[in-house]
Order: sequence, then structure tokens, then C-alpha cells
Amino acid sequence: MNDYINSLKSQNKLNISIDKSIDFEWDYYKIAGPCSVEGPGIIDIANDLKKVGIDALRAGAYKPCTFPILEEKNGWKEGLRREGLDLLMQTKLETGIPIVTEVMDPRMIETVGEVADVFQIGTRNFQNYSLLDELGRCNTPVLLKRGTWATIDEILGACERILVGGNRKIAICLRGVVGAPSYRHVFPTIRWAPDLMMIPALKELTNIPVIYDPSHSTGYRNFVKPISSAALAAGADGLIVECHPDPDKSISDPAQAINYDALEEIFKGW
Ligand code: PEP
Ligand code: MN
Repeated sequence: MNDYINSLKSQNKLNISIDKSIDFEWDYYKIAGPCSVEGPGIIDIANDLKKVGIDALRAGAYKPCTFPILEEKNGWKEGLRREGLDLLMQTKLETGIPIVTEVMDPRMIETVGEVADVFQIGTRNFQNYSLLDELGRCNTPVLLKRGTWATIDEILGACERILVGGNRKIAICLRGVVGAPSYRHVFPTIRWAPDLMMIPALKELTNIPVIYDPSHSTGYRNFVKPISSAALAAGADGLIVECHPDPDKSISDPAQAINYDALEEIFKGW
């Protein structure tokens, strides 16, 4: 075991997340769907994506944005919120497809948990310890998205925070990190850098499943397939991909959304 990690272990700061004897329980490797729940069309999307072969549908009802959205537009203000959850419930009941959706606040765990088969913790809440602690005490799977700033030990630390509560159903979701300025003047929607090396680095230290997000890593749909292939080649266990029937019309994150055919292409090469 790595010296630095060993020193954290001996200080009792990291233990469970790097114990390779632990079996993590995780069932969702092919996750795709729109960034947000946009309306009742989510049910058709779920049925269509089921045919493409997903294990779970992603879609945010509560959508924190990097820049706060203050005005509601057609009921959408950082998500359809309660209405979005109701639509996800309907989707789940009609299609039987498991739902991955974000929970932003410990006070919402019960409500979101009525619908979510997997709680997504967003990047902005990566170190929201009251949320992590509470989810550690749940029995529902948790997909923890990496903070754009997080070092490898901070990733393990955030996982540990959930694991100590007893919840072993977790996966770490790698998405882009700070460091994309070298692309932005040419590809303006690219906000983050993929950091694919974190995949083998985590694999060397821990058994925690790694789900890679090629959409937020790239911010640009033409790069989603190559970065997906690269992530899988680097050892990622699964992918979470933003996919939309009419990508340019996505309410949130349109530039990185891909269509069904493109998702099928990604799954084909898997
Ligand atoms: C998302 O998955 O839609 C999302 C908001 O991602 P992140 O938390 O990684 O920014
Ligand atoms: Mn998004």
C-alpha cells in the first residue's frame, strides 16, 4: 500500500474506502438519460433508452447549476423539482427502469428516496458532510460525483464519510476537473478536463466501483464517445452519459448531450 495512504490509515483518517477486502454492492453500469427531467416525455425517453440497453435512467429533478438560476421558466428553475420527482415516479412505475437522480439536501432524502433507486450526489455537494453522513446511514445506492477540485485522498475521504455509516452500496463518479482553459477559446462549452488517470489511480488503492461521466468531463458532444472509450480502456466499471432525443433542445447542458444513435455506438464498442 502506498506510503501516503498508509500514513492516513495509521492516523485513523482513511480505512474502509481503501480496504480491498470489502465487497461493494453495485448494479448500475450503463446509466444514461437527459440532464434534467423536462416533462412527461421522460417516460418515452426511458422506454427508448431501455431498448438501447441501459441499466438505469439518469435525470435530475433538482438541478444545482454552477451559476444560480433565479428565474423560473416553464416551471423549470434548477429543475422541475417536485413535479420532476412525480414524473420520475411515473416513469419508474410504467417502465420498471431504475432511477438515478440527485439529492441536494439531507432534508430531502426521504422525499427523493421515494423515487431514487440511486441517489446522485452532485459535484457541488461532494464534501457536504451532513448529506454524506445521512446517506451513509441509508440502504440506497449512492453515486458520489467528484468535486472538480478533489485530490485522490479527498475522493477516498468523501467515500469514507459515507462508508463509515454502513452503506456499502456506493460508486464514485469521475467527471471533469478544473484545468480546461487550454480548450475554451476554441471549444467554448468545454469547462473541465477529463483526468482519466484518476481511474487506474483509484483502482490501485480501492475496490470502489468507478463510473465515468464523459458528458460533464467534456462539455462537447463530439468528444463524448472518444472519452467514453478511453475511460473504459483505462478501467472504468461503467458510464453515466447525458442522452436526449433532440440534444440541442435539452433544457440544461445541450452542448454535451448525445442522441440515441450515438449512445448505441458507445455501447457497441463496450
Ligand atoms: C449532472 O450530472 O447533471 C450534474 C449536475 O453533474 P455535476 O454534479 O457533476 O456537475
Ligand atoms: Mn448535466
